[in-house]
Amino acid sequence: MTMPNMHYADLKDSYLFYNIAQKTKKYLAENQGTHLYRMGIGDVSLPLCGEVIKALHKAVDDQACAENFHGYMPECGAPFLRETIAKHYAKRGINLDSDEVFVSSGASDELSDILDLFERENSALVIEPAYPAYVDANVMAGRKIIHLPSGSENGFLPEPSEKAKADILYICSPNNPTGAVFDRVKLQKWVDFANENGSVILFDAAYEAFIEDETLPRSIFELEGAKTCAIEICSLSKTAGFTGTRLGYTVIPKTLERKNMNFNSMWIRNRTTKTNGVSYIIQRGGEAVFSEEGQKQIKKNIEFYKENAKILMKALDNTGTWYCGGKNAPYIWMKCPKNMGSWEFFDLLLRSVQVVGTPGKGFGSCGEGYFRFSTFSSREDTVEAAKRLEQLLSTLK
Ligand code: PLP
Repeated sequence: MTMPNMHYADLKDSYLFYNIAQKTKKYLAENQGTHLYRMGIGDVSLPLCGEVIKALHKAVDDQACAENFHGYMPECGAPFLRETIAKHYAKRGINLDSDEVFVSSGASDELSDILDLFERENSALVIEPAYPAYVDANVMAGRKIIHLPSGSENGFLPEPSEKAKADILYICSPNNPTGAVFDRVKLQKWVDFANENGSVILFDAAYEAFIEDETLPRSIFELEGAKTCAIEICSLSKTAGFTGTRLGYTVIPKTLERKNMNFNSMWIRNRTTKTNGVSYIIQRGGEAVFSEEGQKQIKKNIEFYKENAKILMKALDNTGTWYCGGKNAPYIWMKCPKNMGSWEFFDLLLRSVQVVGTPGKGFGSCGEGYFRFSTFSSREDTVEAAKRLEQLLSTLK
């Protein structure tokens, strides 16, 4: 008999977004015609910028004529895009060869595909609260997971310790869901820890473009020693609105080796076996993100979301509510009032002011008592949601 991967039976059902959808559906059925202010979504609301659209159109036209037509693309990414991304890193003082950059269809795909490079016996450290895919992808592979809780006492940015020893270390900065960002000193400690223990860091930099504080690292490769212990996974989803267009990139330094095995060479071997590359058209669209004009246009969109963040943060400041994130990240992580549980606060927000957010408990048990707002909604809805949130929080003081 065929044996399925029995590790799937170990997966916990992901109730988070299902429960949110069920609760909001029920509320709308009972209160027909009510508008909900959806501050929970992790998807962007602004369209792709003009430079990207222009490049996509041109690439479509290329595919219409024999001289410019592209068939299969190189599995690890088009040279034009790999070079463009390497030059983008160089502007920030990080020197990469273009063949250390791999083009992907997005960070989600990559975060689980990359696990092919590691033995199943390896353990994986997940700092919680965390983006749920880290845990699930490792459960599917049957790996031992070490959960490292974090809390407000360390700003949701824990330091490495004996308890954090694992073979694969997930670090997400700026963080989803907490919006917290590692500074250089704290991130250097993780890099040193990984090098000392022979671990590999999977650095999820999906939100690096939201960092405005120049002193904070946007790439792990800004830190000394990272090229011997880290893989960086990036995405154009939130940086440039590619959530539905799909494009990301991953950096694997050629100096990253364990047991005489080179991770860069292994990934080339993996990609050339398991993919036939990302669409030519989409890669041309991605290239336009890194042009001078493209960078100006995506920054304008990011500014828009940051303004949303300011509006929500003001409501929290005005009511003396504890929160982190919002400044260098598109997420705001607040402490629920009156020691409420995160689902209790969800119900209260929905039923009394029609605002929908994401209960912290859905990101790991130490997220209980916290609540996540995203800043990707429309301005109109954000302004109204902030007003309603402030009114509600004031009555709970
Ligand atoms: N990593 C984090 C922390 C995320 O929050 C997300 C998406 O929300 C992803 C990765 C996935 O991004 P992509 O759209 O590139 O698959």
